[in-house]
Amino acid sequence: MDIVFIEHDDNDRFRDVRLRNKFYSVINSLESRLLVIYTELNEGVLSAAKISIMDATSVIDCTCCTRNTNNKNWFLIKMVFSSSNDAVEMLIHELCHVMQYLSGQLDAGSSVSELTWKGEKFILNDIEPHRRPWERDAILNALTLHKYYIASSSST
Ligand SMILES: [Zn+2]
Repeated sequence: MDIVFIEHDDNDRFRDVRLRNKFYSVINSLESRLLVIYTELNEGVLSAAKISIMDATSVIDCTCCTRNTNNKNWFLIKMVFSSSNDAVEMLIHELCHVMQYLSGQLDAGSSVSELTWKGEKFILNDIEPHRRPWERDAILNALTLHKYYIASSSST
């Protein structure tokens, strides 16, 4: 999995090399773990994935992850965060969404107001964010992954 930081003029905290390095270490320590959780995925698919990340705190209200419609290995995470620990937690959560997309569990619907989860169509306006099954899945798995990351980063 490749990550690229998008630089821009307002509120760009990813210019901070320590924060970038933290993100690299999250990805390095969790890649194999992600494949244990999202078993439908193989290593080749994961290593072909490319994730662009930007600090969008001054631009939008909450963090989101979108998949490029032309290149399905390509994702954009716009991040809204208050501290580096906060950013790490969000990164882990958004990585779960990337895995959901790559494994085919989550897929674009026929319009932007729709998503498909494990073959079932969901109209986004009809279901509150915390009730969406892909959010529940990401929240649960991110919790496990975060614990694993903390344990692996404190043992080195
Ligand atoms: Zn989410």
